[in-house]
Amino acid sequence: MQVAHIRKELCNTAMCNRCVKFCPASRKNQPVIFIGRNKKATVVEELCNGCGKCVKICPEKAIEMITIPDKTPDTEIDTKIEDIEQEKEEAPKQTAPPKKKLTPEEKIAEKKSRHVERILRTGIACGLGMIAGLVSFYMAGTPNPITAEMIDAGLAGVQATPIVGILILLVAIVIQKSLFMVLKIDVSKLGKKDWFYQGFITFATWYLSWTFMLSTSLLSA
Ligand code: SF4
Ligand code: SF4
Repeated sequence: MQVAHIRKELCNTAMCNRCVKFCPASRKNQPVIFIGRNKKATVVEELCNGCGKCVKICPEKAIEMITIPDKTPDTEIDTKIEDIEQEKEEAPKQTAPPKKKLTPEEKIAEKKSRHVERILRTGIACGLGMIAGLVSFYMAGTPNPITAEMIDAGLAGVQATPIVGILILLVAIVIQKSLFMVLKIDVSKLGKKDWFYQGFITFATWYLSWTFMLSTSLLSA
């Protein structure tokens, strides 16, 4: 019969214990795969039905199917289950490390660094928004002159391809995440609100700088 076999040298339970959770033959008090005292996955061959699903789920390719002689009698299975139960009870419980309590000085330092980071993020949004506004103005084409005909047609001051400007704005918003990562800003701490803020500031400065350039060029024409 075919059963799963763990190649211990490849099993990395610190990264996962997917096979333990995934094995469809496991029951609450009767696991087919469990994490042993050596912190490696272990298969109870007598309970494994050889479905091979764990082989596909293992990210480390640490599970293979092997052929063993036919099933052992039920009494041996019961003994094996009892052994597993005992081993599980004896295994040291993995608990999360306690959170480090910050001293008042550390709290102030953390607040300060968060404040500096916020200023830096705002500066980046403003800078990119401004650059995007200028690039948008130059890329969107020559603005229509302000003449009576153009005013009547509602096209006075309109540029040929304003859509280019919108695409440039989107790029300026999207690249901020990569820029933050380069600057070692922890993006995982940024929530929806923070990203909305970044987008809004970029949009506002983009809009102001583009309309400023547009007005200046029309007035000087
Ligand atoms: S899925 Fe693979 S790496 Fe993860 S615990 Fe099981 S055997 Fe180990
Ligand atoms: S082969 Fe199937 S029954 Fe056996 S350990 Fe893997 S998932 Fe569980």
